[in-house]
Amino acid sequence: MNNETFSVICEIELQNCVIFSKLNLEKRLGKMKKYICLSCQYRYFEEGKDSGGFVPALSTSQEDYEKNAKCNVCGQKIVQNGAKEDAELFLSAIRNPQIIVVAFTAPSIRTSLGEMFGMEPGSDVTGKMVSAIKALGVDYCFDMNFGADLTTLEESKEFFERIKTGENLPMLTSCCPAWVSFVEKAYPDFKKNLSTCKSPQQMFGAVLVNYFAKKLGVEPTRLFVTSIVPCLAKKLERVRPGENTSKVYDVDCTLTTVDLANILKLKKIDFCHLPDADFDNEFSLSSGAGTYFGNSGGVLQSILEENAEKQGKALTSGLSVGLANIKECKVNIDGKDVWVACASGLKNAKLLLENIKSGKNKYSLIEIMACEGGCVGGSGQPSSKGDSEIVGKRATALKKRADMQIYKTSDQNVAVSQLYETYFGGVGSKKAKALLHVKRQ
Ligand code: SF4
Repeated sequence: MNNETFSVICEIELQNCVIFSKLNLEKRLGKMKKYICLSCQYRYFEEGKDSGGFVPALSTSQEDYEKNAKCNVCGQKIVQNGAKEDAELFLSAIRNPQIIVVAFTAPSIRTSLGEMFGMEPGSDVTGKMVSAIKALGVDYCFDMNFGADLTTLEESKEFFERIKTGENLPMLTSCCPAWVSFVEKAYPDFKKNLSTCKSPQQMFGAVLVNYFAKKLGVEPTRLFVTSIVPCLAKKLERVRPGENTSKVYDVDCTLTTVDLANILKLKKIDFCHLPDADFDNEFSLSSGAGTYFGNSGGVLQSILEENAEKQGKALTSGLSVGLANIKECKVNIDGKDVWVACASGLKNAKLLLENIKSGKNKYSLIEIMACEGGCVGGSGQPSSKGDSEIVGKRATALKKRADMQIYKTSDQNVAVSQLYETYFGGVGSKKAKALLHVKRQ
């Protein structure tokens, strides 16, 4: 991408609430030659060419995913056109007595959902959130942090192996689908550097469809798996080629924080006065490391903690978690000193990748989250109207929750260890590779 690509920056402030219909688009096409996303700065439309990924939120199929050739779907500058359909799908599953509805909530939802009901930014509403989801008639409500613990263990193993062989370094984390899309579309030479690990959403979906359905003694098709997440990118991730282990999608429906709040309002659930409830047993346990995933730096920190644990040491120096541009630190992995870094926002990601291209890179592991501050600042969260203090409050509350967890690192999570022992046969096993990883061409 050259500088000329950036020469026409359209001053279109498309925040989460703006309906950007095709009609609107056509009106604007007459006036503007190029659209450049104000989030990732990747050009997604040129006059006279297909508008490509401009309506990604409407997409519900793999075919649509492939057609969305340009946009990275971080959702920061587009709208949630698909929200109504997702809500209807979810509610109709709940009404169907033949269907077992399973929902799981991403780490960052719990410190932002309260804002939709007039609570202070950074209110930790974990218990009320579970109560509310169960009040809707969901059969099982689980914690996606469990999936984040799986991701940490798989990604740590993959990283240690790459350090040993020296292959495909720096390793780039793969939890954020908008970032993965950005690499694939704008920097395809770095595809091999991406971790092969699925995100917590897709790992959890694979576990539910393959393991949990069997445990319940039902066909996987009787499960209706719903993830509740901070962004629009996750809506497309579930239909992304290579992400699914079953004939149907592993995750049937994806709701954002705002979608969930709107459904609760529609159903007149008095959120603020609900009692606290606990996640359902099977996947209720998680570690502080898994909880950190909602903040920029969280994935990287989890991997570093896993490394420190492996070496029988406490993590003495690390990245502080929170709003970040680019942070780095030096760690010792199997006797080698290596540098690692994290950044949020695709503009910063671009900076890092350009540095690597020009040979200035010193890093072995890089975590990128497309949204400023990480998932706490996602496009499906209540609008912060650009106020980074609000996003910061969510991040601080999430860190506080992570610090309260009994298990600090992912391998301390006894429920995760048990799943590896009884089902996967170890971290990085053949079964784990088949269900929890994707193939990168
Ligand atoms: S940083 Fe989180 S919220 Fe933002 S696009 Fe990536 S996964 Fe979604």
